[in-house]
Amino acid sequence: MEDIKGCPGNAESHALTGPSDSKQDAADQLRLLIECVTDHAILTLDLHGHVASWNPGAERIKGYRSEEIVGQHFSRFYPPEAVAANKPQRGLDVATREGRFEEDGWRVRKDGSRFWANVVITALLDETGQLRGFGKVTRDFTARYQAQERREMERLREALRIRDDFLSVASHELRTPLTPLHLKLTAMRRAIDQAPNGAVSSERVSRDLDVAVRQVRKLAELVDDLLDVSRITVGQMKLERAPTDLTPLLREVVARYLPQATQVGCSVRLDAPAPVRGDWDARRVEQVMTNLLSNALKYGAGKPVDVSLHAEAGMARLTVRDEGIGIAQDALPHVFDRFMRAVSGRNYGGLGLGLYIAHQVVTAHGGDIQVRSELDHGSTFSVRLPLAPI
Ligand code: ADP
Repeated sequence: MEDIKGCPGNAESHALTGPSDSKQDAADQLRLLIECVTDHAILTLDLHGHVASWNPGAERIKGYRSEEIVGQHFSRFYPPEAVAANKPQRGLDVATREGRFEEDGWRVRKDGSRFWANVVITALLDETGQLRGFGKVTRDFTARYQAQERREMERLREALRIRDDFLSVASHELRTPLTPLHLKLTAMRRAIDQAPNGAVSSERVSRDLDVAVRQVRKLAELVDDLLDVSRITVGQMKLERAPTDLTPLLREVVARYLPQATQVGCSVRLDAPAPVRGDWDARRVEQVMTNLLSNALKYGAGKPVDVSLHAEAGMARLTVRDEGIGIAQDALPHVFDRFMRAVSGRNYGGLGLGLYIAHQVVTAHGGDIQVRSELDHGSTFSVRLPLAPI
């Protein structure tokens, strides 16, 4: 609250009377308050919306002196388009009907400049409930509005930056399998062209084809991830739940990754001793297993990887642990975000979508996914899925 001394209302002219006249005291204090407040425009309107009283705050915010504005219609404070849309009268109608009207919007000062205002119009009723006029309190929120706009611009700029980064990562990632694919196909073409009677050894063809098929599979996986993300974004990821045993599913995924594990020097230990049955979308859960295991091999190359699956307390619990590069503490809360990558693209390929998709799949099943990790000391990802739909 502002200091009462020296306020425009001139405290002396409203000198407080002795303690005996406390009703008069309260009235004087109220008048002083209204006259001294300069960061709120406080005014009253008659039944038709003409200004009846005006405080220094109103003069400071709107620029009119009391004698210039008292008696004028309050629609002067509105921009022409708001007047054309009958906004001033609508505000009075709402206040009359409901006792109060509030809105944030543009208003016009005496000099024609606009400011962003928070406006409250209150119906003033007498003791008999009769409407006598309106009280109007206006605050200038331009600075707050501009700060909000700046924050919104910042957010949009950041979103654009992330999108541009993502586009360059995505095009790089999509290009990577294309190069060996192109090389192999060109080599096969040349081998056939140069071979006497076009007879190329089937061993040679099959070696080249294996490479080509691997690259096409990689490309398909990247495109599938991109499609998944756009499906999730438009809310179209549907689960097709069916009775499923996760144990054979996990064994299959681990077996599929064994050649890659050998290639990068990882031994994979699997601890999944018993069936874990529930109602899940098997293809989606398999996708989660695949993402976690392929990350463990990618970021934990050369070290053992432990995979375990158990049923406990009504939940399936899948854990994938590696002893690899780990994740920095400041990146940890964001690893499940879209496009998030906590490693340099030069050292490790990837779109930054695998964990985002895994998180979406797990939460769609009513489960959760968590990570514990320390830089240079490996990571443990834990997934819990309810055995029965919740
Ligand atoms: P991608 O691996 O394609 O970059 P993910 O969404 O699978 O995308 O992972 C997001 C980020 O989380 C990765 O870029 C990496 O920085 C980090 N990350 C994920 N798994 C591991 C892990 N097992 N060890 C270390 N870092 C990991």
